[in-house]
Amino acid sequence: MAGKIGNTRNYAKELEKILEEKDAGGTGRERKPDRLLLHSCCAPCSSYVLEYLREYFAITVFYYNPNITEDGEYRRRVEEQKRLIKEYNRQVEAQDFSGMHSTKMAHRIEIIDGDYEPGRFYQMAKGLENCKEGGERCLQCYEMRLRKTAQLAAGQGFDCFTTTLTISPLKNAQKLNETGERLGEEYGVLFLPSDFKKRDGYKRSIELSVKFGLYRQDYCGCVYSKRGKE
Ligand code: SF4
Repeated sequence: MAGKIGNTRNYAKELEKILEEKDAGGTGRERKPDRLLLHSCCAPCSSYVLEYLREYFAITVFYYNPNITEDGEYRRRVEEQKRLIKEYNRQVEAQDFSGMHSTKMAHRIEIIDGDYEPGRFYQMAKGLENCKEGGERCLQCYEMRLRKTAQLAAGQGFDCFTTTLTISPLKNAQKLNETGERLGEEYGVLFLPSDFKKRDGYKRSIELSVKFGLYRQDYCGCVYSKRGKE
């Protein structure tokens, strides 16, 4: 299989190959690109992913994060997400990509502001409150957000879906990809593999956060991850 190192898949290479094939087949950066539903956890993590993929796809960001348990924090993150998308769309309208890796082939980005339902998160996390970050609670948390994304992607006829979550060095990219692929099969919509922290993606997300003055939280999102920082 392409992008396989030893027994471990290289999801970043797999995505590169998909993008190369889109370029070669003329279905990548032309006027009517495939529609991608991109689950996003926050503006900083999405900054690199949007810069990387907006030439290849017509992206709709799906902001669905019931795991952010504090209302004020949630609102702050979602508003930052909207502000970043406006900045990117302004670049497309002005055809001015100075300081960006994107080219004039970049497409406009849409957003779907998902329901805020922290009760669902608390219900899911019952009995898993004391798990360490990266443990079972987080795996369930990935599943909850990706399932909703897959459902929406299938229901609204998107060509594919994926998530920004693999950009975080604290997240398990293999589990995220396995979950995404399983849900993609269940709902009949293609899951785009990724490991966005590779290719200096995480580093680039920090540069872009500075460039756009983005709010960067210092904890993942739930009350349990916040306690770990206090
Ligand atoms: S630490 Fe992050 S991924 Fe894990 S359960 Fe909390 S919000 Fe979800």
